[in-house]
Amino acid sequence: MTAEAKYPPSIDAIARDLASVSALPHAILVDCARRAVADNTESAVTVAKELVREFETSLHQEVINATGVLLHTNLGRAPLALNSNGRSTNLEFNLETGERGSRQDATAALISHLTGAEDAIVVNNNAAAVMLVLAGLAEGRDVAVSRGESVEIGGGFRIPDVMEQSGARLVDVGTTNRTRLRDYTRAITSRRNDIALVMKVHPSNFAIEGFTEDTSIAELSTLEVPVVADIGSGLLDNTAPWLHGFTERVPTWITGEPAARQALADGADLVTFSGDKLLGGPQCGIIAGRADLINACASHPLMRALRPGGHTLISLQSVLLSYSARTACRDIPFWTMATAPLSDLETRAAAIVANAGVGSVVSVDSLVGAGSAPGSTIASFGIAVPGDHRDALRHHSIPVIARTFDKVTHLDMRSVAPADDHIVVAALTSLR
Ligand SMILES: *Cc1c(COP(=O)(O)O)cnc(C)c1O
Repeated sequence: MTAEAKYPPSIDAIARDLASVSALPHAILVDCARRAVADNTESAVTVAKELVREFETSLHQEVINATGVLLHTNLGRAPLALNSNGRSTNLEFNLETGERGSRQDATAALISHLTGAEDAIVVNNNAAAVMLVLAGLAEGRDVAVSRGESVEIGGGFRIPDVMEQSGARLVDVGTTNRTRLRDYTRAITSRRNDIALVMKVHPSNFAIEGFTEDTSIAELSTLEVPVVADIGSGLLDNTAPWLHGFTERVPTWITGEPAARQALADGADLVTFSGDKLLGGPQCGIIAGRADLINACASHPLMRALRPGGHTLISLQSVLLSYSARTACRDIPFWTMATAPLSDLETRAAAIVANAGVGSVVSVDSLVGAGSAPGSTIASFGIAVPGDHRDALRHHSIPVIARTFDKVTHLDMRSVAPADDHIVVAALTSLR
């Protein structure tokens, strides 16, 4: 028997020992030491160090996204700098009148200006946006959705489940591969139903091919009930005016994505979309369209639970201002990555390889990610290192997240900010 097992080790001594390997607050180290000792193993110190390591790796921290998936769900989708210096803001204070104001007014005005909507509100994510629309406009009533659009998107956003939670009833119309206007008309005129609205859902993360047909927003807008389009990705305008002067033409991967301005112009009464997909902003959900319908959503009791915080609204405001100023490609990291010229990516990859003395330059394909533009890729350059080095790169002081395929580790330059190239150099150098 070791001395350690005979005499329970002092919690304090272990905690002091842990302080040499971790910068976590003393109280957390004591907690880890206590749990390790309670474990009653012979090697309390080793167990405690393991607990500390687990605690540290569970903390949110900066990473370098070298996966080439520009909107990586596990890495927080759209990257965006927090711009707050900690001062108070006029979040709900009208500086003109000195009276209480609305936290939603500024972003609503910008969204209207950019999409042609009459009004808009912002909630915590697009799932919340869909939920609020259904609760606000169709609680206790029926909502018609095409069978081909009764989908599951990402981590458990399932149309039938959201519908049930909102208190609206789902009425499936048409078939999985073909739904026509008359399928909707039949559902609306049926005396068994009480259709409050028609919802069109963009099946963001998959594409069905072959004998398919769906009903356009323009056709749906001829129906006598409001049409809500859940466009998902948050492309504001498919002519992408913010790209003018930055790219020669609108990239092909954009063209398949539904856009807010066009959906509204085609006759959608409301659109819903995420803030942190193609919009490139903070996590939030946006509802835009007819003022009376927005008002009905905003006055539902759920609104209080779904409203976003000040940091979110202020970040969203600055993102929307960049779109208006047409500086999105410079200011919004997603658009900077998406439009980075191929030759720049090749030059950066070559410089990193030369500096690190590891790997070689290869052409790779980036993905938009977050379920947007499924099936499309963006040409890119990256660095290939034979073997699977993902673990070592992930354990770098600033973790570098790479992909391995064909037994070769690939680091895509498109999803890495140029200012972070030196971190990639350091991580690769450590592989030598
Ligand atoms: C991504 C997506 C959602 C869910 O949006 P979150 O912002 O992740 O809540 C809902 N509908 C569509 C069509 C989507 O693409």
